[in-house]
Amino acid sequence: MLKIENLHASVGDKPILKGLDLAINAGEIHAIMGPNGAGKSTLGYVLAGRPGYDVTAGSVNFGELSLLDMAPHERAAAGLFLGFQYPVEIPGVSNLQFLREALNAQRRARDEAPLSGAEFLKLARAQADALGLDAEMLKRPVNVGFSGGEKKRAEMVQMGIIAPKFAILDETDSGLDIDALRAVGAGINTIMRKPDKAVLLITHYQRLLDYVRPDFVHVLADGRIVRTGGPELALELEREGYGAIAA
Ligand code: ADP
Ligand code: MG
Repeated sequence: MLKIENLHASVGDKPILKGLDLAINAGEIHAIMGPNGAGKSTLGYVLAGRPGYDVTAGSVNFGELSLLDMAPHERAAAGLFLGFQYPVEIPGVSNLQFLREALNAQRRARDEAPLSGAEFLKLARAQADALGLDAEMLKRPVNVGFSGGEKKRAEMVQMGIIAPKFAILDETDSGLDIDALRAVGAGINTIMRKPDKAVLLITHYQRLLDYVRPDFVHVLADGRIVRTGGPELALELEREGYGAIAA
């Protein structure tokens, strides 16, 4: 589903990704772990097409598509979703307005009919219920005054509504208490653990992986994948630290 080959990327003059290779098949969940500053978030941004993150070499295929040739909104319409490490607040725009606009923009880009207000509300309520977010919160401005856990639950509701093919979730477990962590883990499993979908989970700690069991764990250090293993690699990292493994 996603094939990254020899990816090099810079921010300004500074090379961050330095020859990264990674292949993710449909039905798989991959975790990327690594020390601070290794380039994990940069990888997510480059895949999503964030301006300022310049690809200097390499290729990324998303199914049949050459991802790096596409605009960010085209990537999203093709089924790519990026969850943020720090979800942004959007005062003055309600979650419902935001999510309906986001979904319908993607549906139009795929030549699908936009959902009516009533159809959308039904979908949004069902997703909020499934993820344990009070549906009333969807009337409030995007993330404004939300706790860390509520922001992440709201992001899972967003993912459930958008129903992407491929999700990149960046430190989606940061700042979560145990209940929120469990809810987010269950959300990822419910929405994305499917034969025709795949996930790249960027995470610092192994604890989210107790809820979302990855098929593969990769260590990213200094801009490339330096080791790949199964779920046991995450436990080894937790025990030994990155220094021992990435060196
Ligand atoms: P990680 O998510 O693995 O902690 P990042 O991808 O956020 O790492 O950062 C990798 C490196 O790139 C760091 O040295 C960071 O300071 C640098 N970097 C990332 N984004 C920017 C930016 N917008 N401007 C300058 N440097 C950046
Ligand atoms: Mg990061």
